[in-house]
Amino acid sequence: MPHTPKKVSLKYPIPKEVSRVTKTLRDGGFEAYLVGGCVRDMFVNIKPKDWDVTTNANPEQIQKLFLETFYENDYGTVGVVNETEDETLKVIEVTPYRTEGAYSDKRRPDTVSFNAKLEDDLKRRDFTINAIAYDDSQGHSKGHIIDPYGGLSDIEGKILRTVGSPYDRFHEDALRILRAVRLATDLGFTINVETQEAIQKTAQNLKEIAVERIRDEFSKMVMSKNPMVGIIMCEKLGLLDYIAPDLKRGIGLEQNGAHIYTIWEHNLRALQHSADRDWPLHVRLAALFHDVAKPETRRWSEEKNDWTFYGHDVVGGRVTKKALENLKYPKKIVDVASQLVRYHLFFSDIEKITLSAVRRIVRNVGPENVWDLMKLRACDRIGMGRPKETPYRLRKYQSMIEEAMRAPVSVGMLKIDGKKIMDVTHETPGPRIGFILHALLEEVFDNPENNTEEFLARRAIELNKLNIEELKKLGEAGKEKKDEEEEKELAEIRKRHGVK
Ligand code: ATP
Ligand code: MG
Repeated sequence: MPHTPKKVSLKYPIPKEVSRVTKTLRDGGFEAYLVGGCVRDMFVNIKPKDWDVTTNANPEQIQKLFLETFYENDYGTVGVVNETEDETLKVIEVTPYRTEGAYSDKRRPDTVSFNAKLEDDLKRRDFTINAIAYDDSQGHSKGHIIDPYGGLSDIEGKILRTVGSPYDRFHEDALRILRAVRLATDLGFTINVETQEAIQKTAQNLKEIAVERIRDEFSKMVMSKNPMVGIIMCEKLGLLDYIAPDLKRGIGLEQNGAHIYTIWEHNLRALQHSADRDWPLHVRLAALFHDVAKPETRRWSEEKNDWTFYGHDVVGGRVTKKALENLKYPKKIVDVASQLVRYHLFFSDIEKITLSAVRRIVRNVGPENVWDLMKLRACDRIGMGRPKETPYRLRKYQSMIEEAMRAPVSVGMLKIDGKKIMDVTHETPGPRIGFILHALLEEVFDNPENNTEEFLARRAIELNKLNIEELKKLGEAGKEKKDEEEEKELAEIRKRHGVK
């Protein structure tokens, strides 16, 4: 494709270690350009996350030019390890120009070939704004670009469009569908109309894509500054079915008197607040899913003359767990986010709450997650259109939680340990000791003033008179109570729906 290089100047400086890589390649007799996300970001005026270089050198030739490299994947990408200004090591990815064969599985090219020209390499890239090559040989203020698809003018117009036919490109690799929405969300761009139509018509190809790749794009969207816009866009374009179908059930569903938004919009607004506060992924996911089970627990109450959502926290915790497991999130994220959803109702009635109830929640959700639960509460409130919590009330919650956290919530926090129990009871090591520890934990849980060595040693001797079955039952009392409560609530819900 004929084109004249266009001279441009960048507001964003190119780091020295990056120019060093392109210079080494040029000095070795090869072409070298910056390309992809870093060029796009420099023109949008945001700091590039990673720097990609493309060249006509092949992987072996690239490796010969640099001291420390590693060969990364089937696409010929070589990682060049380089020292930065602040003396940390950084990897710059150098990829040979390539063309791609047909995509028969909607995911990866059947063949890749490295005997290509720069123009061929730009042509296989997904969007015009990602298909600009930047020549930094003259320094960053005088470089020129090779931009055969009008990427710079699309950046100026804030438009996202594919290189070539969007249908063809989305048929080749369906992940590009999600990349389109994620990039548009991240950058605040509009997806061009033809590209949008193609997304809607090819959305079902997302079924062919590995769920991990879908999850990673979804996470990037959730972690962006405007996740609410991104998820609305996914829904409008018919993509939510392939990411988090449960959320769709809240669309258009009214809530009770306290709420001005539908269930769907309330979840989204809660998510947006977590992004506005720059909170971490697990809090954002919990915010997005916190009322996910309101649709199936919604019941009209004649008595209250309003909707009720009894048990939506319990069911919601389970739905969230399933949804995040389906997306193959790491266990830690699944567990914490679903626990936050499970217990999100806890703080809704602070006036009536007792210290021992706060203790129970600290134990259930874990002392390490209780502050995230407070964050979720803030998301829930702001997502309802309520004003921010007053500093006075915030201090009140904080002091209650801190007080509750001083009480033992695990056997490790007891003022007695297994060794001491064996000393006073003359027992040998075995399961009895563990059961006694758990039984003691139950005893001090509601009466933390009993957490003294003297009291616990005395109780250990008394408890040791019980048989092992009785001891076990006492030690597991707290756990059983929790499960029983949940089962009761679930049974209630199932009964109302006439299901088992
Ligand atoms: P990010 O800001 O997340 O890094 P990015 O556009 O740089 O966004 P990368 O995954 O780093 O995303 O990809 C680098 C470049 O490779 C892209 O800018 C694009 O030119 C090309 N690219 C990435 N994924 C695809 C794809 N699925 N199809 C075609 N080209 C792609
Ligand atoms: Mg990138």
